[in-house]
Amino acid sequence: MKDIPTLANPTISQSARMRRLGDKVLGPEMGLDNGGAMTHSIRFAQTRPIVFVANQPRWSQRDINSHKRLLVFSMSTLPCGFSADVQEEVILKFTKPMKRVLHRKPFAIAVIVVSSAFSLLAQRPMSPLVAVTSPRHGTWGFDPRGMDPSVKPGDDFFSYANGAWIRKTNIPPDQTSVGPFSDLRRLCAEQVHLLLETTQDNRSDSDEGRVHTLYQAFMDDSSIEQAGAHPLQSDLQLVRKVGNRADVARLMKRHGFEASLFDLEIEKDEKHPDRYAVHLGQGDLGLPNRDLYLDAQFTDKKRLYKAYVAEMLRLAKWPNANKSATAVVAFESLIAQASWRGEDLRDNSKSYHSMSLANLRRMAPMFPWADFMAGDHLSENDFLIVTTDTSVVKLAELYGSTPLSTLKAWEAFRMTDAAAPYLSNDFRQARFAFRGNALNGLEAPPSERWPGAVSLLNALMGSTVGKMYVAAYFPAERKMAVQAIADSVMQALRSDLAQLTWMDPITRAKSLRKLDDIAVQMGYPDHWRSYAGVNLNKQTLYKDVETLRNHNWNYQVSQLKMAWNKNDWRFWPQEPVAYTENGQLIFPAGMLQAPFFTAQADAAVNYGSIGHVIGHELTHPFDDRGDWWTPEDRQRFKERSARLAKQYSAMEPLPGVHIKGELTLIENVADLGGLSLAYKAYRTTLSHDEDAVERDFTRDQEFFLGYAQVCREKERPDSLRNRLASEVHSPAAARLNGVVQNMPEWYKAFNVNPGERMYIVPDERVAIW
Ligand SMILES: [Zn+2]
Repeated sequence: MKDIPTLANPTISQSARMRRLGDKVLGPEMGLDNGGAMTHSIRFAQTRPIVFVANQPRWSQRDINSHKRLLVFSMSTLPCGFSADVQEEVILKFTKPMKRVLHRKPFAIAVIVVSSAFSLLAQRPMSPLVAVTSPRHGTWGFDPRGMDPSVKPGDDFFSYANGAWIRKTNIPPDQTSVGPFSDLRRLCAEQVHLLLETTQDNRSDSDEGRVHTLYQAFMDDSSIEQAGAHPLQSDLQLVRKVGNRADVARLMKRHGFEASLFDLEIEKDEKHPDRYAVHLGQGDLGLPNRDLYLDAQFTDKKRLYKAYVAEMLRLAKWPNANKSATAVVAFESLIAQASWRGEDLRDNSKSYHSMSLANLRRMAPMFPWADFMAGDHLSENDFLIVTTDTSVVKLAELYGSTPLSTLKAWEAFRMTDAAAPYLSNDFRQARFAFRGNALNGLEAPPSERWPGAVSLLNALMGSTVGKMYVAAYFPAERKMAVQAIADSVMQALRSDLAQLTWMDPITRAKSLRKLDDIAVQMGYPDHWRSYAGVNLNKQTLYKDVETLRNHNWNYQVSQLKMAWNKNDWRFWPQEPVAYTENGQLIFPAGMLQAPFFTAQADAAVNYGSIGHVIGHELTHPFDDRGDWWTPEDRQRFKERSARLAKQYSAMEPLPGVHIKGELTLIENVADLGGLSLAYKAYRTTLSHDEDAVERDFTRDQEFFLGYAQVCREKERPDSLRNRLASEVHSPAAARLNGVVQNMPEWYKAFNVNPGERMYIVPDERVAIW
């Protein structure tokens, strides 16, 4: 009885009460058989919980009777279809608006328990919800049907563990890839969608009410269509009126739809991690990375981009769209040339240059910095950390030599491009045709509007959505179970640090102290943010987005006067990611679901999956970006990691396109260290009896298969090509094979011998943690 698939109403106390009921009656892990056979859910109507059951719920009649507050509707076979062997199930499938379902005769909805009379039918009809379809992963957490036993594990472990899955899985037309991460992203989005659909809070002065309003604004297609390009016009008018360069600089805001040559971030000061500082560096490009402008393999994409720029300028009614587009793309190509490569951006030692505004002015005199800072409400700030110093100088020069008309057209295009998702369909279609189809190979835009709403709410009001999400989907038991895994992985690193042969005593003592300072935040932060004072209107989406962006930026500016806040998460609980910041390892609740963590899975599988994620994050504070090493140890670390970089550089995921070993190095080191630590943690927690139990696979094999399963990923070639150019994580198959081929335990588990394709002689294997 672990996970409770509840839909929370707006207050935590009610969902907490529901959780207590849920603990008793509901089945375990989230997920659903793809057939949609077993689904159930709970939602609240006003203050009363209602449970909907469809087919084979795993509750007994006694369970139901014992909870007089529950209303149970059966859509088919209650009470005879109870089944005890359902391992994973969840949420609810409404394929019709609820009102209609409830009225429909053939379903003959049976009210099993009625506590008090109230009318569900009085509610507004719900829009159709889609089933949450996280696939079930076998009986012990791993799905062996995805394997290809005809491949020898030592020849290609990825194909051995995942080959059948790769063959039979198709990438959905509106996705760039399919696999556990995209499945989990979709699951989390659907969970949030269900919350958004069922939130009834209409108060304008509560954060839940604001979430509700923004959701309604995003979903109100007819108001958005009616408004057409109108919402954009007042911002475009500001660009049209620009008469000099200082005006352009003032427009380049970090918090609006405007584009900026320079990125401004308010983040912790690396050298004084207890406080925030303004970081200034090169800005984003219109295309996802600089290679797309500069590398011959992307010539076609660049040509299509120019057509897209022209199309957007036409929709924005900007004069001479074609000619302006040519100038814009030429300008951006020069920006790309001036910009640092991804490899250099990852090196913290190169990207910390603190200075005053006067010093910045001296360093890069061709840009009106005071006007730029004023646009972002930072006039009073006189301490800056310049990250990409040399590119900042070049970009300032470029700004000084670019015609004003080009700068204005560039602003108009970038503003329209950024605002397009909140404008009428003609803008959205044009954006999809380039960004979705031409750039990433997507065949179709999302068939529904709500995924965009979920992304927007996560980005702009993520804290409140997270609060609602945790109340509905993250029970205390799951938090405790994953915390126990995290504790054992940290213990594994502690023992490791005491024994590592390549580390000298000074670095060793420093690393142990560093480890003592590391804290894990599991599932959700201790405090939630407030959006008090924000006024939203469900008829004005574009304005609402601007209002919230402004609010969030001003909030960040206000933090400059405060101490670093560990509860201010970069990604909120409903997002399936994990990350490390300032000695905090952060695992949002959304990440702690199958296949990364499954309460019913064998421990070996959980350690291979979520254990690896925890180990991966745990190694980041110890990677080569800090200055805590003795020079000799840093050198030894560099030698080892250079050998790993060489191994990855030799991999060729697309014909002729290799992995960038340097770009991906830190993440590859974290993958290898993470899996090694998870393995050590697993072995120390494994009992002798459990180890001896005979199943289809040994416990060690299960561990590596657990990791292989979370690496099951299939990606469109266009998207993969883009990713190889700039993404710091290696593609999934390399994250698997590149790691296990360095681990002696893997050779032993699968009896891998010389002559097999992945075999590396022991001396050449890399071990860091
Ligand atoms: Zn990482």
